[in-house]
Amino acid sequence: MKITRRDFVNGVLMGSGAALLKPNMAFSAASSNLNRVDNSWYGYGGVGDYSSSHGNTPEVVNTAHRLRDGEFASLPANMAIDEEYDLLIVGGGMAGLGAAWHFKKNAKPGQKCLMLDNHPLFGGEAKENEFEVNGETLIAPQGANGFFIPPHADDPEKVSGDARYYSEFNIPRELPYGEWSSKFKPLKFCRDNFGFLYWRTENNTSIGRFFEKDNGGEWANDIWQNELAKTPLSNEKRQALLAWYNSRTDDLNGDGKSRWLDSMSYKDYLEKELKLGSQGAAEADYFMAGAYGLGSDAISAYQARDTMMPGMLSKEEFESEMPRRNSFPGGNSGFARYFLKGIKPSAISGSDNFDDIITGTINFSELDKQGDNIRIRLNATAVSVQHEGKAESASSVRVVYSHGGKEYAVRAKGVVMASGGWVNKHVVRDLPDTFHQAYQHFHHAPFLVANVALNNWRFMYELGITGARWQDGFGYGCNIRQPMMVGRHKPALDPDKPAVLTFYVPFHSPGLPIQAQVSKGRAELFYTSYADYEKQIRAQMTKLFAASGFDHKRDIQGIILNRWGHAYVVPTPGFFFDTKEKQAPSNVIKQGFGRIAFGHSELNGFQHWGPAADQGRRAMQQLLDIV
Ligand SMILES: Cc1cc2nc3c(=O)[nH]c(=O)nc-3n(C[C@H](O)[C@H](O)[C@H](O)COP(=O)(O)OP(=O)(O)OC[C@H]3O[C@@H](n4cnc5c(N)ncnc54)[C@H](O)[C@@H]3O)c2cc1C
Repeated sequence: MKITRRDFVNGVLMGSGAALLKPNMAFSAASSNLNRVDNSWYGYGGVGDYSSSHGNTPEVVNTAHRLRDGEFASLPANMAIDEEYDLLIVGGGMAGLGAAWHFKKNAKPGQKCLMLDNHPLFGGEAKENEFEVNGETLIAPQGANGFFIPPHADDPEKVSGDARYYSEFNIPRELPYGEWSSKFKPLKFCRDNFGFLYWRTENNTSIGRFFEKDNGGEWANDIWQNELAKTPLSNEKRQALLAWYNSRTDDLNGDGKSRWLDSMSYKDYLEKELKLGSQGAAEADYFMAGAYGLGSDAISAYQARDTMMPGMLSKEEFESEMPRRNSFPGGNSGFARYFLKGIKPSAISGSDNFDDIITGTINFSELDKQGDNIRIRLNATAVSVQHEGKAESASSVRVVYSHGGKEYAVRAKGVVMASGGWVNKHVVRDLPDTFHQAYQHFHHAPFLVANVALNNWRFMYELGITGARWQDGFGYGCNIRQPMMVGRHKPALDPDKPAVLTFYVPFHSPGLPIQAQVSKGRAELFYTSYADYEKQIRAQMTKLFAASGFDHKRDIQGIILNRWGHAYVVPTPGFFFDTKEKQAPSNVIKQGFGRIAFGHSELNGFQHWGPAADQGRRAMQQLLDIV
């Protein structure tokens, strides 16, 4: 289906005028239903297979809220069992796909598995948006989007994480990016939507920093490479920021150092240990909130070391060259598609070559076929998971899921919860107290990814930039990627041709307690209508780019919002290590209980595609051992 600009205007922009009068029109009018959303909250979804599934859908949000509010608390105990399986997986993101892939390779003959996911599409946060602008197909990530190419593994079974799956699926290592023609002035492009925000990899992007002023603002390009010289910052602030940016340290390796780092936030590490003042931590907030949902006051210094933040590297590490990040057209949706192709070859049209896997259409009828040993059921929310009998001795688990407004019961010999703690503590009815206590240490931050389809980006070209950063307003950064050219996705890399501008929008409120920050952010993400966000995006782009020729009415062709209510677990101090007094919360959860195992990327602290699949694999193996 092709959606034109007119469809977009009729379907969505018409809402703007009304929304100006009544900002929360996206919410149900009934006062008891104020936490229900509808399509005017959801907004435009683009074209193609993913158009009905961008971020959390109204259906997902409403069912989750009904669950949280106890509406499924008293399901009839005698609901007939509709189907029986050996294994059942709740969640079809990278972790659930990792679990299903492991099942496929290791199940005993005849064993059967059902995967439930509450979205209209598999992939979890690794999905994509698609636009069609002036005949050009544009694809962009909904969430997870960038990766470094891992080392090759001769025997993938012997390694874990990215290296294992990249080698196992034989994903190309030479990736085909569009070339920037020499007829244009030289510009550097980030290949994903994150590297340009990150210390050191940002040097691969022509990036402008916007400094707001009373009369508009001014741009300074490539500020770190120019040692902040062209910025309007005071000398004092410049020195403080450079001291942070260039700070190095001696050896921070070893278990003792790791535990010590995990006892404090990155902000405390910078200010109390390195005595750097507050400027560096404030600058780091943006990067950290982009990667973990909250800023430096909330993130463990141990995690900051793992991400190689300033102040964490030795001189040698500091001087080593950073590899470039990559991104498939739909970001990590590419990995999700590789897993799906492995699990169910006929679910993506075409053969198993790179082009077809990345851009082939999805054969929905192949996902949940009777007789298959792995079935994938979409739009299905698990609302109750409970052992039949005592967890220690039960031989089965009863799962009730909601699908199309009706509840169904399924029996399985074991269940992998490849969903996050905010779901599990409501859904798993016989969850032990120790698990409830462990989940209290998991704080989940919201995140918004807004993809804006443009018919040209000359206004950025004129500024000599492909990425932008700013301090206040909607989001804090946006960029145009160097597009990977795959299959039917071959957009021209030309400032006068269509492209997608992607905004990353975290919700951090430095200084507030961690749970207060995530709750406040989630409320903001939830209570802002599509029309309000659209207004904010148009206003932000006008503020940034009108002086270089941007006209929001002429240049914007479509806006897709991808709202993730619980995008990231926040790796807070104390998240990672067991102590004499208590186990690390994630280690409690990883044990599983009875016939229920837990495998979601949140258990790693830092959510990342390969380790996410590893979590699913580990959880599936725990159950295959007993089923
Ligand atoms: C904005 C953003 C950027 C990111 N960037 C990167 C990146 O560059 N590189 C990277 O590697 N990672 C990135 N990530 C991290 C990403 O979260 C992980 O890599 C990974 O995709 C998470 O997979 P998962 O399966 O653990 O979780 P999810 O993707 O959350 O999948 C869980 C699935 O279970 C479903 N579910 C939940 N409850 C139920 C229920 N009751 N019934 C049925 N289904 C249910 C969920 O809706 C979801 O579909 C990013 C994340 C975000 C939000």
